[in-house]
Amino acid sequence: MIDRSARIYVAGHRGLVGSALVRRLEQEGASDVLTRTRAELDLTDARAVDAFFADERPRYVFLAAAKVGGIHANRSLPADFIGENLRIQCNVLEAAQRYGVDKLLFLGSSCIYPKHAPQPMREEHLLTGPLEPTNQPYAVAKIAGMVMCESMNRQHGTNFIAAMPTNLYGPGDNFDLESGHVLAALIRRFHEAKEQGSPTVELWGTGSPRREFLHVDDLAEACLFLMDHFDATTDRHFLNVGTGTDLTIRELAETVRDIVGYTGAIAWNADMPDGTPRKLLDVSGLADLGWRARIPLSEGIRATYEWYQRNHP
Ligand code: GDP
Repeated sequence: MIDRSARIYVAGHRGLVGSALVRRLEQEGASDVLTRTRAELDLTDARAVDAFFADERPRYVFLAAAKVGGIHANRSLPADFIGENLRIQCNVLEAAQRYGVDKLLFLGSSCIYPKHAPQPMREEHLLTGPLEPTNQPYAVAKIAGMVMCESMNRQHGTNFIAAMPTNLYGPGDNFDLESGHVLAALIRRFHEAKEQGSPTVELWGTGSPRREFLHVDDLAEACLFLMDHFDATTDRHFLNVGTGTDLTIRELAETVRDIVGYTGAIAWNADMPDGTPRKLLDVSGLADLGWRARIPLSEGIRATYEWYQRNHP
């Protein structure tokens, strides 16, 4: 078990994942959670990151800082998605090794598996085939981070592990329609259409891709569980984190529509990309250790919609 009274640095604490990690750590009695805003510490600045670790000496690190976004943002800002992520993770991983961090958890993503990986995707499918083109720059950066953790462990004897989460949602999600992911976008589109009495809501793609959705509070719980019960070993330093079930974007849209209470029609804009046809995770590795996701999708969407209404008037 990681010591709850030790200094624990959460990089990216204002994001969807980082904020959920801070909530979870506080619930579990962590008493020295260290955070820095982007204005206080620019993680793409190697010298600043080194000085921060030299001064603060965290014992554990959750690396949840990353440039993230939905299918459209990934397509429009490919250089930012690869460049920023490579710099952030290189700086943090190297400083964590240099200053003797006991254990670090890096956040991967299910989109880094090959586009045509067998479903559900198992950990050994990483690096076995070509990637989905819409988010390849992001995926290459995240793969580099995974390989860097493993290389650090081999060369320096660190204990850098990684969680490979499926598509996430929850309070603190990005509800911007251009840059965000599908679930937050659906909540916002149906909510605004209901408020404005619009007869139709236009969604992207064909609605046929399948996706798996994990509530970020479940992910935060899993990350703590991994820190407590999973160590980097020679054959594997990461595990998938998901629910083990998926649904089509069309089914997801109908679920969100019903929860929001929108009664108009849905139109599909097939000029927008579908992305990868399916990315369902095999979660048996984590289940064997004793962890399972708990928040049912409809309950999680309901809670996220309530959060959205309170925070985005
Ligand atoms: P992905 O999982 O990396 O493909 O990223 P997204 O969460 O952005 O998109 C998931 C799927 O939802 C894709 O097939 C999108 O085309 C589809 N989708 C439908 N409507 C929307 C929307 O309004 N916003 C987003 N981001 N995706 C949408």
